[in-house]
Amino acid sequence: MENNYTVLARKYRSQDFKSLIGQDVLVKTLTTAINTGRIAHAYIFTGIRGTGKTSTARILAKALNCLASDGPTATPCGVCENCRAIAAGQHIDVLEIDAASHTGVDNMRDILDAAQYRPTNGRYKVYIIDEVHMLSNSAFNALLKTLEEPPAHVIFILATTEIRRVPVTILSRCQRFDLVRVPVETLKQHFAWIAEQEKIELTDGANELLARAADGSVRDGLSLLDQAIAQTAGHVDEVAVLDMLKRADRGVVIDFMNTLLSGDTAAALARADDIYNNGADLSMLLTDMMEWTHWATRMHPALHAGDVTSAPYTADQREQIRQINERVTLNTLSRIWQVMVASVPEIQSAGNQKQSFDMLVVRLMHIADMPSVPELLNQPKSAASRSDAGDTKKHNAAPAQIKITNSDELARALQASKEILLYSYYTGNIEVLELSDGHIKYFDRRGDADFAPRLAAWLNDKTGHTWTLERITESPHAHTITEQKQEELESDPMVANAMSLFENAEIVGVK
Ligand SMILES: [Zn+2]
Repeated sequence: MENNYTVLARKYRSQDFKSLIGQDVLVKTLTTAINTGRIAHAYIFTGIRGTGKTSTARILAKALNCLASDGPTATPCGVCENCRAIAAGQHIDVLEIDAASHTGVDNMRDILDAAQYRPTNGRYKVYIIDEVHMLSNSAFNALLKTLEEPPAHVIFILATTEIRRVPVTILSRCQRFDLVRVPVETLKQHFAWIAEQEKIELTDGANELLARAADGSVRDGLSLLDQAIAQTAGHVDEVAVLDMLKRADRGVVIDFMNTLLSGDTAAALARADDIYNNGADLSMLLTDMMEWTHWATRMHPALHAGDVTSAPYTADQREQIRQINERVTLNTLSRIWQVMVASVPEIQSAGNQKQSFDMLVVRLMHIADMPSVPELLNQPKSAASRSDAGDTKKHNAAPAQIKITNSDELARALQASKEILLYSYYTGNIEVLELSDGHIKYFDRRGDADFAPRLAAWLNDKTGHTWTLERITESPHAHTITEQKQEELESDPMVANAMSLFENAEIVGVK
């Protein structure tokens, strides 16, 4: 890389209307206006950062002052004295003011006082005021005075990222143009073209990631490309960009959502561990999960959505989403979305991101498994047969009530009703001394104060009668459910046989 490396955004700044990226409507309106001689005294360009507001302002200034034609032209030559000076920001009649640093009224008055003098080298005196919303009230008043009776040779071009902060009195005297977010496809074409000019390698996957991360801003996208080129010495591929953006691969996100929606909490938490350990930023992962949920919703068969080819997934990945969609309702997707949106601030601000993320995973799994009210109403039979503990009352309206007479039944009932947190706490930490229908005597190895009231509430609700939970303080040295299962398994002749085949083998999980 040369020492005098010019950043791409500056090197490839649009120099004429034709090369403005992704602003077709604006270009058409402005060129038509210039060609038909309808030139306004004030323009205001608004849009997110990096969409071309300042570039457009400079092109317009060139269009007004180009010496290659007798009057304003939609196709400034770019090589005459005026065009070159304006492109370099050095034209004596074209004043670029950054409102962020000229907010005082004195400055503004001085500048506007000079407006009455005729231009020196150009046809028009052009004032380009960037970030105009930053002007102070008194500076706005000074500007307004000039806008009310502008000298014939003065043109104002205002630019802002926050149009709502510009007073209506100013707005009403300007012709307004909204610069749109540049579409991903347009950005990709532009970046591919630049990569060609720069003789660097940019894979299509990497380009796609950069264009999406740019979020509609040409400048942001080019800064990312600059960064990627510097980090990869000119071989920009998907892996490098994912690494740079601290993002997990799209395929990984799809896999993860698939695991989440399968209802296997342990597997989902393990996947989250993997992704985290591979260096992905969890708030970016959440963003990607939201993107997935949004697209799964858009592609849901129930919506009969037509064109989903603009989804950021390959044909294979779209097919995977379609398959997942077959077992997930729109309702579930919408509830998953709500929980994700609510978690964004928590994940972003949490001292321990990983913990918050794990809790989010558990919450999402809970939602994915819970039938919605309409689903319950549509399926009264399956709702009533959900209990596997027998004694189901045959009322459609009342929830099925269950009977629990031993600790195994309790574990199974917790699992069946997707009480994942209670289930894993109960099976992992609780030594049951006695359990009859209505009473449990137990020792709690961890002693979480929440456990007893939550289990009691759940039991009361599910069985329809009141339970008493008696916690003892001395361990009876009984097994937890998990230990019992492990023991049963190890004593099973088939398993024992299998274990003897593998030296140092260990049972790590029972499914
Ligand atoms: Zn020119």
